[in-house]
Amino acid sequence: MSESETFDIVIIGAGIIGVATAYYLQKNNPDKKILLLDRNLAAGQANTAMSAAAVRNMFASSTNQLLTDSSVKFIDHVQNDIGYELLFEKCGYLWLLSDSQFHDPSVQMWMERMKASGIHYKVYNKEELKEMMPGLNVDFSNSEEAELMNLKEVSYGLYGGDCGVLDPTRYVEYYLDEFKKMSSVKPRYGVNVEKLILEADPKLELPGEPFVWQEKKVVGVRTNKGDVRAECVVLATGAWANELLDPIGMDSKTKCKKRQLFVVHGDNQGLKQLLRTKGFNEMEMCPFTILPSAGVYFRPQMQEEGFWIGCGDKLGRAYKYIQTDEDYVPESSYYENSMFPVLSAYYPDFSSTRPVNSWAGGYCYSPDAIPFVYYENGVLVANGASGSGIMKADAMARIADALYRGLPEAELFGGKSIPSEALSIKKRKVEIESVVI
Ligand SMILES: Cc1cc2nc3c(=O)[nH]c(=O)nc-3n(C[C@H](O)[C@H](O)[C@H](O)COP(=O)(O)OP(=O)(O)OC[C@H]3O[C@@H](n4cnc5c(N)ncnc54)[C@H](O)[C@@H]3O)c2cc1C
Repeated sequence: MSESETFDIVIIGAGIIGVATAYYLQKNNPDKKILLLDRNLAAGQANTAMSAAAVRNMFASSTNQLLTDSSVKFIDHVQNDIGYELLFEKCGYLWLLSDSQFHDPSVQMWMERMKASGIHYKVYNKEELKEMMPGLNVDFSNSEEAELMNLKEVSYGLYGGDCGVLDPTRYVEYYLDEFKKMSSVKPRYGVNVEKLILEADPKLELPGEPFVWQEKKVVGVRTNKGDVRAECVVLATGAWANELLDPIGMDSKTKCKKRQLFVVHGDNQGLKQLLRTKGFNEMEMCPFTILPSAGVYFRPQMQEEGFWIGCGDKLGRAYKYIQTDEDYVPESSYYENSMFPVLSAYYPDFSSTRPVNSWAGGYCYSPDAIPFVYYENGVLVANGASGSGIMKADAMARIADALYRGLPEAELFGGKSIPSEALSIKKRKVEIESVVI
């Protein structure tokens, strides 16, 4: 890259949010020269690749319902109407709940809100679950261990059949391929953005600018390969947003927390049977299942004949950027001492398995678990997906494009729309999300 090139738009970050945004910006602004940059050597290599890549529309807040329902329908459309293989498998999401959890007013309200929004779900009782999931332990009455660990007995299953799992790399490639077909500018990798260039607007060429009495605007980025100037800088850096926003005094309101996944093979008869659970979906496949206690979940992985095990724990784990390679290191003791005892109590067939692979990444949390998308000071920020960026990416990208074009409303896939500034910091109009994994 030569010194100080100029584009109309520069997008920092080629994760799922960055590539989806690149696609909509180019599609709806065909004359604009858009440069997509990432410091990694390819797109989608950071948290997008670390994700469980499960997608659901089962949220409690109407905002997240809208963002995810439209995005998941888009995913379905890409695979089934356009014919682009995303390995999207509609295995469904299954929340296993205790009697008290099921009757908790927040869960009842969640179901009411889904019903009101036309989000399909089904409730299974304990007897039905026992029949459909033979290895599931629903009786802790004689288990001191379960009592000690505060494990709640399964009484109900809340199942959403429009949800599923996909391959995040394929999903990134879809947007990227489409973007590249339209764009005259090739994406660039191995380009680290060191800072956002903030200048007086308009620039008076006075020494010491910008002064307090001047308007300021981000006019480009300084990278390890030179400066790039652009009328609009899109920040799709996810968990690293603060690294670039803090130095220019913009508070992203997001924080990063480490999350990990562990892979186990379904190498005994019980787990093989679990993987091919019958009765929930047409594919006769195990749903993405969330246990009633400790935030432990498992995701079927048919290609690997196994499961990915994760945990949305409520430990006092620090909020922290992912900065060093060590931050990406999964902790085997976390699996052994925290997740494994819970998993094997509910599903004893997991007790004979050990992880064959594992990885770690970071969730980028917003305070209300609803993403941020806003355009301020020349920077268009899209982040804070709070552990569900794959399933919100399409809607977030459409909102980013609507903001760029100055439209009051963003049209989402399927025809519904959302005020373009609903996810902004200053004019935020969202409810707090309670169903965060
Ligand atoms: C363990 C785990 C499980 C998850 N499970 C799910 C799930 O099941 N479903 C779901 O929807 N979501 C899930 N998520 C969340 C999901 O992965 C994220 O919400 C999503 O990937 C965010 O996309 P992104 O594009 O914002 O971030 P990223 O994919 O992290 O992309 C950001 C990009 O910005 C680049 N970048 C950052 N700073 C700079 C810079 N200064 N210069 C140049 N490039 C820069 C990075 O290299 C990176 O490629 C999970 C996350 C984790 C960690």
